[in-house]
Amino acid sequence: MNKIYLTQTNRLFIIYVISGFAYTTLLTLLSVRVLPGFFMQTLFFIDGVIKNRTEIASITSSEAFIQSIIFGLLSLTLLFIASRGVIISIQQLFLSQKFLNSLKSKSNKTIITVESNETSVFTAGFFTPKVYISSKLKSSLTSEQLKAVLHHEFSHWKDHDPLRGFIVQLINNILPQFPFKNKLKDIYFTSVELKSDEHSENILGKKRPIIEALYSILSNDFSMTMQPNLAHFSNMPERIPVLVGAKKFNFKLVTTLSSFFLFALVSLPVFVYTVKFYNCEHIEDCIQIFVNNLQNNSSENLCSMHSMDTPTSCTSN
Ligand SMILES: [Zn+2]
Repeated sequence: MNKIYLTQTNRLFIIYVISGFAYTTLLTLLSVRVLPGFFMQTLFFIDGVIKNRTEIASITSSEAFIQSIIFGLLSLTLLFIASRGVIISIQQLFLSQKFLNSLKSKSNKTIITVESNETSVFTAGFFTPKVYISSKLKSSLTSEQLKAVLHHEFSHWKDHDPLRGFIVQLINNILPQFPFKNKLKDIYFTSVELKSDEHSENILGKKRPIIEALYSILSNDFSMTMQPNLAHFSNMPERIPVLVGAKKFNFKLVTTLSSFFLFALVSLPVFVYTVKFYNCEHIEDCIQIFVNNLQNNSSENLCSMHSMDTPTSCTSN
């Protein structure tokens, strides 16, 4: 029994989950350790400009100020990208739910035939997944090819690929752009398909039926509607050359890419944890004084940071 792609898919999924945790930790650390100091410095700068304070020039050129502004803006950008990623994932969830509802299937069976002129087969559902196959596809395959396709889908069903795919897509969505980010995601989804082909091959004891089914689907007015969060019978152009042995899946590239990805995402929170950032532990008080100053035209110091005696921590007056 071949389990190369199953092992690789599981490994990549674990790498994604660990990286997702590491990145969430990074965002939390940045919010807690960088943002209060950044807001303090920004408030102090605005207060200084309004009040025309003389110390402002020396403060704005201080290392603490520059560091706070750079890391603060960076943190805000990353938080913005992550929030947008979460929103996109939620929107995709609604889209796929809407699509599933449009199929109007109330059956509790694991395999559901959808009356449709589209060539379509996929597995959907996070906790109790179901396999959907269109009547057109069903009638266009031989019984052996159909078995091969259904065993492929059963592999998605038993491994909860729709749920795992959603998690991988969510992590991919919250991450900012970096080299090979989408390449690694594509590798994951191709690997999931090859894992399911491998399962089909293991059960039937031969590769031929799944390859024939792929060719048949591709040549037979290929009209699959792609929806997010469903495990589609997809990535066919990538699968066929690997299945027929014309192309080798580059495991070395996958290992190198994913190790680098994991290393980068785990080392970032460690880095942010060890670096000393300018911090303001009573940012609420500073905001209060800032607002008071504005309203009453007073010029109370926001906090004693101006002295710069304590460059990594801002102490209250
Ligand atoms: Zn599939």
